[in-house]
Amino acid sequence: MTAVAMTRLIKNTEVVLVESDDIATVGVGEATIPTLEFFHEILNINEAEFLKATGGTFKLGINFENWRNTQHQYFHGFGVTGKDCWAADFQHFWLKGKQLGLKYEFGDFCLERVAALKGKFARVQNKGINYAYHLDATAYAQYLRMLCEKNQSFRRVEGKIAEVTLTTNSGEIESLALESGQNISGDLFIDCTGQRALLIGDALKTPYKDWSHWLINDSAIAVQTQSTEPPLPYTRSIAHASGWQWKIPLQHRVGNGLIYSSRFLDDQAAEQLLLNNIEGKPLTTPRKIGFKTGSRSQHWNKNCVAIGLSSGFLEPLESTSIHLIQQSIIRLLKLIPVNGLRQVDIDEFNQQTEVDIASIRDFIILHYVVTERDDSPYWQYHTQMSIPESLKHRIELFKQSGHVCLKNDELFEDSWMQVMIGQGLTPENYHPIVDNMSAKELSKFLGDMRELIEQRASSLPSHQDYIKQYCASRS
Ligand SMILES: Cc1cc2nc3c(=O)[nH]c(=O)nc-3n(C[C@H](O)[C@H](O)[C@H](O)COP(=O)(O)OP(=O)(O)OC[C@H]3O[C@@H](n4cnc5c(N)ncnc54)[C@H](O)[C@@H]3O)c2cc1C
Repeated sequence: MTAVAMTRLIKNTEVVLVESDDIATVGVGEATIPTLEFFHEILNINEAEFLKATGGTFKLGINFENWRNTQHQYFHGFGVTGKDCWAADFQHFWLKGKQLGLKYEFGDFCLERVAALKGKFARVQNKGINYAYHLDATAYAQYLRMLCEKNQSFRRVEGKIAEVTLTTNSGEIESLALESGQNISGDLFIDCTGQRALLIGDALKTPYKDWSHWLINDSAIAVQTQSTEPPLPYTRSIAHASGWQWKIPLQHRVGNGLIYSSRFLDDQAAEQLLLNNIEGKPLTTPRKIGFKTGSRSQHWNKNCVAIGLSSGFLEPLESTSIHLIQQSIIRLLKLIPVNGLRQVDIDEFNQQTEVDIASIRDFIILHYVVTERDDSPYWQYHTQMSIPESLKHRIELFKQSGHVCLKNDELFEDSWMQVMIGQGLTPENYHPIVDNMSAKELSKFLGDMRELIEQRASSLPSHQDYIKQYCASRS
């Protein structure tokens, strides 16, 4: 992703991609959020072609099963829920309706959720439907490489980095020595070496902030299976007694995985749990991936920018890692050094990146701490766990007065509401501006909106049919 963006958008710069055929990409990371559409748009990537190449499907949100309790499910849809007014968000109107005895679920007012649960999808003009993608991660990497290779200013060097040489005076990265003996020098190095973090970590010794006391999962087991039904237009996230499972439907297979904490579940039991809860025949051998949740203390250090897993990791509960990658790429392109490095640019990059990651970190922790579950040592741990002050404030603000206040261009406004309500947090009060509507008017307002959403969702084609005519993959 970084190489495509650099080659397509920054002219007069030679981009060298060093990649080892012996070290595969992590090969997971197959669910995205809607911001990827914008990234592709600025890179002039053709959507249908990309979906064909990656066996991709559309994603309208995530169905969270067994998260509030073992009998409950809710949907985090990508769209806007209901209609708000200048003073109060829609949840205030919904809440009063609920107090009046109207039986609507909050998600009934989200077109994406209603369409997803009917298995419907179509692209609608003017962002009438918000969507993201499910994609085959390995195929996506190959597709992006092919795009890079079309560009004259791009050079791919196959080989394993054996050593990173620093300059003696400034301690910046001077060059990379490959096992083949080849040396690669450069002005700016972007560390995309994944969890190995060869440049930002091993060479520059940039500290890693460990957040595993808040996000205790440290392991994943992934397995791909045959599809047993037409692809759903959403990701499934199923909570278990000691972790949670993802199901990501592609055109040609399903990606499955279990995320868990080795403190509460051993690898063998985890693998069995996953295999007991998949539908299709396995296509791959289950694969264990370990990780440590946290973030680099600096994402840009000297002449090295960490992008991807080298810069940190938050578990994929809300499919945010690829989004963080693209955010870092766009941020780097905005602050790209001209005529040498400037510390102010570096500081700005680090500060913005940190705000982004901390907000997503809080959003993920929310799922574990606002829940009725305490049915296993894993869930009991979360009932007693301390949480970041920033999250504590958000939860109290929503609980006591029903507000979600975002800072600057923070992601996820609607998502916070959907997840807080879905996990079982109902505000104690609604905003008094809602009382400007009589009970009859409010009931009509909600009823009409609900009916319109139902009609719009029903009128869409099935997800499967849409894929067939728009982007059927050859595989
Ligand atoms: C279990 C799990 C599930 C995930 N699910 C999601 C998801 O649903 N959605 C999402 O957005 N994100 C998800 N992610 C995160 C996502 O997978 C990563 O952010 C993304 O794949 C980027 O990885 P990367 O490029 O940083 O690292 P990698 O994919 O590990 O790539 C590292 C690259 O560095 C090269 N390399 C390493 N060492 C050397 C060396 N010595 N010499 C030369 N080259 C070298 C390798 O060849 C490789 O190309 C998930 C992650 C995990 C662990």
